[in-house]
Amino acid sequence: MLPNAIPAVVASLIDGQWVNPAGHRELPIVFAASEEQISVLAEADEQEVGAAVDNARTVFESGVWSRAPVANRKRVLHRVSELILARRDELAMLEVAHTGSPITQAYGRHIPRAALNFEFFAEYIAQAANPVFDQNPDYLTYVRRDPAGVAGLIAPWNAPLALASMKVAGAIAFGNSCVLKPSELTPLSFVPFMEILLEAGVPPGVVNMVNGRGPITGSALVAHPHTDVIAFTGGTATGRLIGAEAGKGIKKIVTELGGKSANIIFADADFERALDAALVAIFSNNGQQCLAGSRILVQRAIAEQFTEAFIKRATNLRLGDPYDKDTEIGALISAAQMDRVLGYAEHARNTAGVEILAGGKRCEQFEKGYFVEPTVVTAKSNSLPVCQEEIFGPFATILSFDDEEDAYAIANDTEFGLVSYVWSQDISKVMRATEALRAGIVWVNTPLTRDLHAPFGGYKHSGVGRDGGDWSRNLFTEEKTVTIPTHNFPITKLGVKPD
Ligand code: NAD
Repeated sequence: MLPNAIPAVVASLIDGQWVNPAGHRELPIVFAASEEQISVLAEADEQEVGAAVDNARTVFESGVWSRAPVANRKRVLHRVSELILARRDELAMLEVAHTGSPITQAYGRHIPRAALNFEFFAEYIAQAANPVFDQNPDYLTYVRRDPAGVAGLIAPWNAPLALASMKVAGAIAFGNSCVLKPSELTPLSFVPFMEILLEAGVPPGVVNMVNGRGPITGSALVAHPHTDVIAFTGGTATGRLIGAEAGKGIKKIVTELGGKSANIIFADADFERALDAALVAIFSNNGQQCLAGSRILVQRAIAEQFTEAFIKRATNLRLGDPYDKDTEIGALISAAQMDRVLGYAEHARNTAGVEILAGGKRCEQFEKGYFVEPTVVTAKSNSLPVCQEEIFGPFATILSFDDEEDAYAIANDTEFGLVSYVWSQDISKVMRATEALRAGIVWVNTPLTRDLHAPFGGYKHSGVGRDGGDWSRNLFTEEKTVTIPTHNFPITKLGVKPD
């Protein structure tokens, strides 16, 4: 059931104050499982984005946070983490209200991850060291890092708080100020999130928030001359636009984009574990995940047995009220997303070489809500759209392969390169796979396992740059090389007349 405490209006937060939404364009926020409007977003225009960035810049330059001792920042970040966990129920309930994804995802995965993001960076900044070069006895060279300035952070709707908070935590841990723009579809949980930041002791203006659509609010943030860094997670088409705009301003940028990840299951895999994990990889969070294992590549010797078992489990998935703890698939985020997924099913129905083995329709048992049956297709060729395009829904495509070479060729034959999954009990084969696969992450005999110390990001059109540990530090800081003589070594005297 929807929570009582849904913010009636979500506006911008600038310098710790909610902006009065009068005169703003209003956009509806909809509960995807009932299609009812539950709130309103007051869209920030270019002027308001400018005010948010200018304030973040002023606060950055004041030094109140950018020059605060690391020990202080660490304490505040830990406090944010604790407060997120203390308000876990409320945050999870709001996440479900705007995403329609099952509560088990929000409560079990996304909110704890948001808390972990702050805990991780609190510890990271306390330990991070910079290099010193002392090879030359005449001088000492060391590297210091300064916060990069004001970061523009743009987040998607599929795991709103988990993904946006990774950016916020990274940006402020290193002393930056930032302006966050959540997806216009999912602003609700950001109201308590902003309250938490302020309550924890993040000074006003260190994290400002603007809400609105990408081409209005988001593009103003990217184009603003005073955003020094852009961290973006979203679709590849949007990433292209943002990359081009940020390039004009010579801004630091990371783009974390789409995927069409191959889940390779060799005949010698642990069958049951590979089956369980294949279902998790494509159907958790309604299949709306950049790292979804959406192309399941099964070695021919076990393909029939695997496909049969997979379909049986996929058709057993429990669809329904996302607030029900037993629900495994909720409603898709929007009517547009539902139509997109159903469009691929329709295309599959009319295309030679693709066969729909399960699902492919809107769920008939619900009168309202953007519910789509878990869909499984087999494809004869990897060049088909269901193998090449990111569908972003509960839609699995199964392909067969003969041998290792075949598997890696199919896996790599995509414009994307975010994740590859490999299932085999043969360590030599696993080692060859980790070398052959062109993806930023290879998960071996496991689904969805993220270590925040390690880089996360994609090859090819899955993005540019990485986040996590050192990689977030590289994005959110500028390196400054300082050289100091160890003694007064002789300096060439120019302009001195010889005696
Ligand atoms: P999207 O690209 O439509 O929107 C993402 C964000 O960008 C939103 O906040 C949106 O308002 C904003 N935006 C849109 N146009 C913009 C513009 N011209 N200028 C500035 N901002 C703009 O993506 P989405 O539909 O919200 O999210 C789904 C996509 O995100 C999928 O492709 C998914 O794979 C990707 N994703 C990637 C990762 C990753 O880590 N690689 C993680 C999650 C989601």
